[in-house]
Amino acid sequence: MITREQLQLSSDLIKKSRPSYQSILDFYTQVFLAQELSMQDIVIPPVVIEPDLLKIKEKNELPLIDQSEFIIDLKAAELLFNKICDLAYNFAPKLSFNAQVLKKAEQNKTFDLETLFYSILNNHGGALHEMAMLLNVPDHELIFFGYACIAPSIQTCAKQLEAYLTAMPDQKKGYCPICGNQPDMAFLDKDGKRHLKCCFCSHEWLVKRMGCVFCDNNDKDYQHYFFSDEEKEYRVNLCDNCHNYIKLVDLRQIDRSFYPKLEQITTLHLDMKAREKGYTNAGSLTNDVSV
Ligand SMILES: [Zn+2]
Ligand SMILES: [Zn+2]
Repeated sequence: MITREQLQLSSDLIKKSRPSYQSILDFYTQVFLAQELSMQDIVIPPVVIEPDLLKIKEKNELPLIDQSEFIIDLKAAELLFNKICDLAYNFAPKLSFNAQVLKKAEQNKTFDLETLFYSILNNHGGALHEMAMLLNVPDHELIFFGYACIAPSIQTCAKQLEAYLTAMPDQKKGYCPICGNQPDMAFLDKDGKRHLKCCFCSHEWLVKRMGCVFCDNNDKDYQHYFFSDEEKEYRVNLCDNCHNYIKLVDLRQIDRSFYPKLEQITTLHLDMKAREKGYTNAGSLTNDVSV
């Protein structure tokens, strides 16, 4: 866990080395800081998993919960909504107008935040699409705002659930052991061990060093990567078996505090390059809205 001061410092350091991300960083850093602050106020009861169910999950290598079971602190999420709309209005020109639309619609009760939050948790694409049409806002922007508000609750809930995992053997799977979602990035720790980060609950878990994290393929003819000499801390792994890619941050190459979401949004050029080459990332969900 890094402090808010360290997060700000990491953001400033990245800004210096990659000026083209200045405006993206100005916005997202404030969003992340607001989320961290909100996290301190979150009060939710822990999700309880009965011992029998836990055994079944462990035996069948199933995630602890379904994402619909995460518990949201509605009050904290609603407060954050107003904060993030204001940040978007002030710092994200491309989101500015729709941020206003959403904030007004919420104040006039034209749309219900709780419905938005639970539609995201339950992955109700149809309901989200209808809501977005009604508000005349693109689906992905509505989801961005909604998810940004509930992310601190989801992360808190995931942290509480980690206690169940400590008693289990590491499964080293390509999906999140907490909620079953896909990873949106990987990193090598100071010992060179590979970890993945969940795109939904931000849980980090250990996996094997080699092979595709999505399909487990380990054939060297199918596993490739690219990187640039100017950014030695990043690598993008490509799999020709399942055509997924994943960005990898080598923590041995960075001298700033590691805040995964920050690295995620300041490497969008790598996502673009991987997509140009015809690869997709099953875990890229929410953090790549243009600002
Ligand atoms: Zn997860
Ligand atoms: Zn693969």
